[in-house]
Amino acid sequence: MDRRDVLGWMSAGAAAGGLGFLSPPARGGQAKTQEEPPANSAARGLPPLKITDISTILTAPNRVRLVIVKVSTSEPGLYGLGCATFTQRARVVQTAVEKYLRPFLIGRDVDQIEDIWQSSYVSSYWRNGPVLFNAMSGVDMALWDIKGKRANMPVYQLLGGKCRFAAHLYAHVSGRDIKQVEDNARAAMARGYRHIRVQVGIPGMATYGTRVTNEPTNREVIGPTNPRYVWEPGAYLRTLPKLFEHLRSTLGDEIELLHDVHERIAPHQAVGLCKELEKYHPFFIEDPLPPEEKDHFHLIRQQSSVPIAMGELFNTQQEYVPLIAGRLIDFIRIHISQIGGLSPARKVAALCEFFGVKTAWHGPGDASPVAHAAQLALELASHNFGIHEGYVFAPETRAVFPGTPEVKDGYLYAHEAPGLGIDIDEKLAAKYPVTDDPPFDFRWGTTRRRDGTVIRP
Ligand SMILES: [Mg+2]
Repeated sequence: MDRRDVLGWMSAGAAAGGLGFLSPPARGGQAKTQEEPPANSAARGLPPLKITDISTILTAPNRVRLVIVKVSTSEPGLYGLGCATFTQRARVVQTAVEKYLRPFLIGRDVDQIEDIWQSSYVSSYWRNGPVLFNAMSGVDMALWDIKGKRANMPVYQLLGGKCRFAAHLYAHVSGRDIKQVEDNARAAMARGYRHIRVQVGIPGMATYGTRVTNEPTNREVIGPTNPRYVWEPGAYLRTLPKLFEHLRSTLGDEIELLHDVHERIAPHQAVGLCKELEKYHPFFIEDPLPPEEKDHFHLIRQQSSVPIAMGELFNTQQEYVPLIAGRLIDFIRIHISQIGGLSPARKVAALCEFFGVKTAWHGPGDASPVAHAAQLALELASHNFGIHEGYVFAPETRAVFPGTPEVKDGYLYAHEAPGLGIDIDEKLAAKYPVTDDPPFDFRWGTTRRRDGTVIRP
C-alpha cells in the first residue's frame, strides 16, 4: 500500500458520507466502506467533516502564559478548543502546532481522534517529549470538544456518563509559619473545602508552595557561587511533622490534609518523612521523590501506609505504567496535556482503576480553564476519581474563558453544555499578550543548596 492508497483509505468513509466506518482498501487500492449504520443511529445523517485549520492562541491573563489550540472544521462556526499549555516553553509548542501538526492534519476527518493521535505521535519519528505531547494535547482535546458538540452532548457523556454530580476539590493553603497555615486553612474550610493542601514557609528558605522568603532584589540568574533562592532539606524535614501535629490538634480529624514535597528530598529522607507523617493520616503526600528516583517507591511502600500521589512530570507510559501496575502509588498526578491529551488520559484512568489507583490530575493555574474542563469531563465519568486540584481562576481569566467550570462548596461543577462546555473570547485574550520571554517564574532551575548545588526542581 503506497502513501496515496493509505490517504484514500483514511478519507474514504468521509467521501462516502459516513463517519469513518472503514475497512482497508481491497486489493488494487480501491477503498471499501462497510455497511452504513442503521437508520435510527445517531450517527446517520451527520455530514463528513474535515479539519480546515489549526491555530494557537497565546494569552496571559493573570500573568500565566496559556497556550490554547483551536481546531476549525468544514462546518461553518464549528470548532474545538484544547489546552497545550507548557508555560515555560510556550512559543516552542506554538511552533510545533502551527508549523508541523497543522500541515500534517489539515484535511483529516475530525471524527478519527484515535488515529489522529497515533499518527501525530509518530509524525516526527522521534517520539514523546513535553513539546510534542502538549501540541498533540491541544489538538486532541479540541477534537473531543468537536465530537461532543456534534453529538450535542457534554464530553463526559461520550466517556461513559456521570459517576458523580461534581468533583471534590482541594484548596491550596500556605503560610509563612504554622499559625498562618492554620488561619488560612480555617478560611478555606469556611469556604466549603473539605480537602486542603498545606505548605509552610521555612525562615530564610525558598520553600515550595509558599512565598519566597529570600526574594532576590533583581532577576539575575544565579549560579553555584551566588545562590539567591536557597533551600535545604533539614529544617523542612523537622518542621513538617510539627505542622501536621498542629493542624490535627487545632482543626480536628475530619479535614483532609494533603502536602506536596515537590521532589526535594533524598530517598532515605522520603521514607522517614512518610513514616513520621503516617500517624496524622494525610489524604496523600505528593511527589516525595523525583521521577529519576521512582524505583525507590518500593522502599516507601514497604515501610509506610501513607497514600502516595505522584506523576506531574511524567511524560511517557514507560515512566508511569510500572508505578501503577506495581501498586506503588495511590493517586496518579499526571498533567494531562503533558502526556498528549484526553485520549491517553482516559487510558491511564482505566489502567489505574484495575490497580486500585485513583486519579488526581495535575491542575494548577498553568493548566488552563480548557484543561480543567477536560479533566472534569474525565473525572465525572471515572469511578476511580480521587480529587481535583483546586485552582480558583482570577476574574480576568474567567472572562477570557466563558464556561470555566464553577467552584462551589468544595466541588467543581461542569457546565452542562455540548463538548467541553467552554469557549474563548479571542478579542479579550488578545488584550493579555505573552510579552515576557524569558518566563515570569524564574525559580525553576535557580533554587539551590547553600553550597550552590541546584535542586530538583
Ligand atoms: Mg505537585
